[in-house]
Order: sequence, then C-alpha cells, then structure tokens
Amino acid sequence: MIKGFKLILKAASFAADKHRTQLRKGEEATPYINHPIEVARILAEEGGVDDPEVIAAALLHDTIEDTETTADELRSLFGERVTSMVLEVTDDKSIKEKAERKRLQIVNAPHKSPGAALVKLADKTSNVRDVGARPAVDWSEQRRLEYLDWAKQVVDALPVANHPLKDAFKAS
Ligand code: ZN
Repeated sequence: MIKGFKLILKAASFAADKHRTQLRKGEEATPYINHPIEVARILAEEGGVDDPEVIAAALLHDTIEDTETTADELRSLFGERVTSMVLEVTDDKSIKEKAERKRLQIVNAPHKSPGAALVKLADKTSNVRDVGARPAVDWSEQRRLEYLDWAKQVVDALPVANHPLKDAFKAS
C-alpha cells in the first residue's frame, strides 16, 4: 500500500506542476488542478476504487491533452498501464474539429479498458457538476444543456455496468 501511496502523491505533484499556470473556465476561475484532484476523489470516495494506478491515471488524465506532457514522459515516471489509461481518455488533438472529437468520444467509449472507463466516468461526473455549479462564463443555457446531453451519451456508451459511479453520474 505504501507503494500506491507514493505513486498517487507523485502523480498529484506532477499534475500540479504541469497545470500550474492554468485555470478552469468557470466564473470563479479555480486552479485547473482542482479538477483532476476532484476526479480522483470521486473515484476513491464515491466509486470505492482502490487501485492506485487508476487513481494516478485520474490525477494525470488531462496532462497530455492540455499541457506539454508527452506519453514517453508519463511512461518513464508512471509506467505503461497508467500511461495507456491516460492515452485512452485523451482526445486526438490532430483532429481539428471539436464536434468530431466529441463524436469520437461517444464512438470510442465502448472500447475503453475497465480502468480508463472509470476515469472517464468520474471525469464526466466532475464536469457535469461544474456545468451546474460553476459554468463557464460565456456558456448559454442552451450550450449547457447540449453539454449535459453529450456527456450522458458518452457515459451510456462506456463499458461500465452496475457501478456506484453510474448512479453518482445520474444523480449529478
Ligand atoms: Zn477532465
């Protein structure tokens, strides 16, 4: 368990450094790192997930997509399994159309590994709560409703059945 503890703190510290200059889009402009920490907390506390590599992947889940972090960097520090989970929840930014990236999240959701599916589910739960509690300043009601509808489609397509996190998402 000590080993898992170290891995989780190392991931938290690494992600905090990588996201250090970023803020969330909401009105309060909270530090970006609050979001990955919340995703990890949702997994552990609401989802009962006790696999340290899944918690580490949650802390790191936006580093490749939203910072300069490379897969090789993650691989050398956190190993192959954590890295592949992060890659599975990373959008392909070479696809320029945001609408297409969002469509692919739905199409690709059924093929996620069990760990990546849980990270994705907790990520969507955190985002849906944020859209309700502290929406991006320039988001209309229409845009928020469209976001919720899309997030539900992604979650419904994930290979996760009868997990407490599914209920947590629905309640959100
Ligand atoms: Zn996220």
